[in-house]
Amino acid sequence: MNRPAALLTCLSFLPLALGMMDVGGDRPLHKLVTLWLTGMLVLAQLLMLLGGQALAKGLVGAVLLPLILALASYALPEYWIPLLHWDALSQGIADGLTLEAWRPALLATLSLILIAVLIVTRSQSALGGPLLLLMVVLLLGAQGLLGKTGQDAPLLRTAADSWVMLATAILVMSLALVALPGWRHHAAPLRRALVPSLALVLGVLMLWYHQKEITERELYNNVEAETQQLGNRLTREIQDHLAAIERFTNVWTLFDEPPSQAEWSRQAALYHRDFRYLLNIAFVDPDSRLMRVYPQNDINLRVLGARLFDAQPAGREAVSRALFEQRIGRTDVIMLLQGVPGIIHYLPIANDEQRTLGAVAMVISLPMLADTLFSEVDGRHLGLTLSQEDQILASQIPTAALAPHQHRVQLDVAGAPLSLSVQPSHARQLQRLPRYPVVSLGTGLTLAYLLYLVLHGYTRLARQHRRVRDTNRVLRREIHTRSELQEEVEWLARHDELTRLPNRRLFMETLEANALRRPLSVLICDVDHFKRINDHQGHLVGDRYLIALGRLGLGVVEASGGVFARYGGEEFVACLPQTDATQAQAIAESLRQRLQDAELQHHDGQPLTASIGVVTLVDGPLDVAAIMQAADDALYRAKAEGRNRVRVAAPLFLVERA
Ligand code: GH3
Ligand code: MG
Ligand code: MG
Repeated sequence: MNRPAALLTCLSFLPLALGMMDVGGDRPLHKLVTLWLTGMLVLAQLLMLLGGQALAKGLVGAVLLPLILALASYALPEYWIPLLHWDALSQGIADGLTLEAWRPALLATLSLILIAVLIVTRSQSALGGPLLLLMVVLLLGAQGLLGKTGQDAPLLRTAADSWVMLATAILVMSLALVALPGWRHHAAPLRRALVPSLALVLGVLMLWYHQKEITERELYNNVEAETQQLGNRLTREIQDHLAAIERFTNVWTLFDEPPSQAEWSRQAALYHRDFRYLLNIAFVDPDSRLMRVYPQNDINLRVLGARLFDAQPAGREAVSRALFEQRIGRTDVIMLLQGVPGIIHYLPIANDEQRTLGAVAMVISLPMLADTLFSEVDGRHLGLTLSQEDQILASQIPTAALAPHQHRVQLDVAGAPLSLSVQPSHARQLQRLPRYPVVSLGTGLTLAYLLYLVLHGYTRLARQHRRVRDTNRVLRREIHTRSELQEEVEWLARHDELTRLPNRRLFMETLEANALRRPLSVLICDVDHFKRINDHQGHLVGDRYLIALGRLGLGVVEASGGVFARYGGEEFVACLPQTDATQAQAIAESLRQRLQDAELQHHDGQPLTASIGVVTLVDGPLDVAAIMQAADDALYRAKAEGRNRVRVAAPLFLVERA
């Protein structure tokens, strides 16, 4: 067991415990889940160190399941598995549980998955241990940066709690502590594989960050455009409305008398139908009394007859402007007599410059205006707020959590400065968030891992290949030396080393090889008084003389198609196939003569000579012993008769032995 590593692993429980205490009052589930998953991985590593491998692997498997689900939820496109389905899946586990509530942050999910793999593979360098470990370090760094700069947009959680990061960092250290000694053996392939794949990981992380920024900005821009569009529609609609009411007002200038209720209702109904957020269209007499109103519903009828100068001081100026100055008057947002906030436009009905018949009051109810506007958008996923300065006039806020993307536009609602703010729900923005940054991050990290495996495997193979090649070279050299030696041994077995002539064995083989050729002559030659050479001039001179004689004999015998060999000591033999006795005698004579003339001298100046015995097999089977005996006898005779001469044995006619 690696004691320091085990201690270090235990140490990472500490930040986790602190993290558990520090989750905050609302106890966000995703933080708890991340702390728990990290804790289980720490436990798995501890078990691994203590030798409980099977248990550790089971634990890692249990941790991997939610992590892989979380990763899939980050990466799979909305049209494959909609967020709603993920939520339904989560609600299958616990009521009211949504995906966002439990899933760990993106980068935390990735680093925990990598750690799980590291634990199971025991950080082996051949299985990518060093790269995986450095990836975790880089992911931790990225989480630190994103968390620190406050850039971790709440739309997509990317960074884990700092307690989790601390625990992860300690766990990584303990993993490294265990793995380092093993990695040292593979330093070269490791470095060669690590550098390019690590560069790829860095590039992939930067690309991911860039894409994430772009996609989130695009989402925000969409909200901005949506808000602008809504605002424009509202402003346009109110302007259209004002123009319509001006036309409506013009109708009444032709009248000398205030309109009857029936006439008023008939005309006003035409306009009200198109603009439903108008609380009413009313006729105000020159004394600011509300004389006619449309539509004639309860709340409108209740205010009929009211004198606006008294009843609605906030709108007094606007009414006066219409009644006394014959100009359009507009109130700010005021509390209407009907008890809701609104804006009233007063349009003068002027018969001529002196006489004012009254004024048309166009009463816009802001809640109704907002309702009209809000009814056009999906209220479950879009929060809308209509406000004037800081006062909220109307709002529609979905029950779902809101996204951090909020946009506000200033509206000119017929001269009244209102602002409209739009804030979509978190779920709607998440649904629309493109998944390609996460997909490219996952793909990139996988590619980097594969690159590492390929490079590492390749470097190791190349090294093995080199080793095999070197071994092969040594073997080939060895084989060459041995075959040379073999050749030499084989040559030595059939040759005499001193004179380099065939030896007795090769001579015998030659005889056998020529067994059927007739006549077959053999001569045997013995140097005369050779002992004296050795005695008086030394063995070296003796050797030199033997070499010279060999060369001489070879010349003579080979010229006549025979084989000249050293028989032993200072005795030489020749095998002469297809050579009769006369020819053999001539060859022997020639050899003897040439030796005598060769200027090889004894110490006393006498020439070196040799005696030669010759025998010829004319017919019958080859009987080597008989032939050699006959030749030897002839030689003996030559010696006996005074040396330096050739003696020929009687031709042999041998008979087959029974
Ligand atoms: P003979 O005329 O009766 O043949 O007299 P010899 O002195 O030649 O007598 P013999 O044939 O009995 O002696 C051969 C000598 O040749 C004996 C040995 O010392 C010598 N001898 C044999 N082989 C070699 C050799 O390889 N080198 C040398 N230097 N001497 C050899
Ligand atoms: Mg001899
Ligand atoms: Mg001799």
